[in-house]
Amino acid sequence: MSDSNVKYERIFCEQTGRQLAANQFPKTCSLCKKVFETRNDFLDETSALRKGDYSAGPKDFVLEYRNCQCGSTLTLKLYDDRGYNDKQVAQREFFAKRLAELAKEGIEKAVARDMVFKEWSFLNSKKAA
Ligand SMILES: [Zn+2]
Repeated sequence: MSDSNVKYERIFCEQTGRQLAANQFPKTCSLCKKVFETRNDFLDETSALRKGDYSAGPKDFVLEYRNCQCGSTLTLKLYDDRGYNDKQVAQREFFAKRLAELAKEGIEKAVARDMVFKEWSFLNSKKAA
């Protein structure tokens, strides 16, 4: 397979709060040979480990572990997709701070993330104007 056929999927990792990219689909279970075409298939057709799905790992990637229906543990390597310019760093700090505040108010994670994203877009549209 040539590089142009590699499909990267953007993934938001709840555990690390990081945007990640994976390029390992389709993925095949080495034990039962089941094929997972996409990450969604992979999540739907595997189950979470009791100890949690993610290893802390080195900074540039996170390992995600899932159990195949055959009982074998599958590992997916997720690459950190974050940028490191000033704006991206400021954005992460803003998100981390606001998400923590909203979590304290009892707002659900997915809702909070959407709210903070809108706040960030609004603040930046004002700066640009
Ligand atoms: Zn399997």
